[in-house]
Amino acid sequence: MDIVVLMKQVPDTSALIRIGEDKVSISTEDVKWVINHYDEMAVEEALRIKEQQGKGKVTVLTVGKETAVATLRTVLAMGADEGILISDPALEAIDPQITAKVIAAALKNIHFDLIIAGHRAVDDDAYFVPTAVAEYLSIPFLSMVIRQEIKEGKIQCVQTVKNGSMVVETELPALIATQRGLNEPRYPTMLNIMKAKKKSVEIKTLSDIGLSLEEFGPNALKTKITSLTYAPKRKAGEMIDGETVGEKATQLVQLLRAKAVIL
Ligand SMILES: Cc1cc2nc3c(=O)[nH]c(=O)nc-3n(C[C@H](O)[C@H](O)[C@H](O)COP(=O)(O)OP(=O)(O)OC[C@H]3O[C@@H](n4cnc5c(N)ncnc54)[C@H](O)[C@@H]3O)c2cc1C
Repeated sequence: MDIVVLMKQVPDTSALIRIGEDKVSISTEDVKWVINHYDEMAVEEALRIKEQQGKGKVTVLTVGKETAVATLRTVLAMGADEGILISDPALEAIDPQITAKVIAAALKNIHFDLIIAGHRAVDDDAYFVPTAVAEYLSIPFLSMVIRQEIKEGKIQCVQTVKNGSMVVETELPALIATQRGLNEPRYPTMLNIMKAKKKSVEIKTLSDIGLSLEEFGPNALKTKITSLTYAPKRKAGEMIDGETVGEKATQLVQLLRAKAVIL
């Protein structure tokens, strides 16, 4: 089974993010880039399917800047077979719809039985790209997947829903998106890190995947970021005085009534 994983590199969630001078982008100096965690789960799941079936190929596809090559090397070290980066100066201005359009165009040149994506990218949180890619490719889409089983050309998935789960089945080829709980991604071993250096990472431009540059650039954006602001600083906590547990509890209840107004 040939599987394509959609992977986005995102700033490390522990990194201090600074808004750039233009006030509509983040300053990428000193940012440590990592794999979006939901995409790491997607890679892990693809590798498990390949291992279980004893054959097939896992290709990891990303749209981004050349810095993404390092992230692709990490997933190759996890065990993926090849990496593809779509990078082009015309993608300097990009929005979720354009991202999905580029991914779908790239996928038209790749054989796949299954595509696995994350259900969200933890930086921009559009929750959009996988749905749109499936729509562009006219294939079924299942999100929030916490378990999957492939049998006789079909995939059966357990999806999380409010207060429970739901089992849904569809024909392959299909696109599924991962949810927390699906698996625990493996760490690359030293041997696989060495092997990954010899694996292929292809860098393609928009024209390489058959797209015309005229359809891209700032004027093609359907949505534009007009400002970015920091979240308000959290207020300092209030210490509760009191000699005994009883006194502290009484004061806590008074504060919950008077200040938090939740009692
Ligand atoms: C209004 C707006 C304007 C923007 N303008 C710019 C801009 O000018 N310049 C800029 O650099 N960014 C810009 N961005 C950010 C960029 O558009 C998003 O990162 C991108 O469109 C995908 O959205 P997301 O990351 O929230 O994906 P989501 O839809 O939350 O991602 C879900 C999954 O889709 C897949 N996926 C997402 N992105 C990629 C990718 N790049 N490659 C492969 N797989 C992927 C992954 O599997 C991921 O887990 C903008 C975003 C918005 C909302």
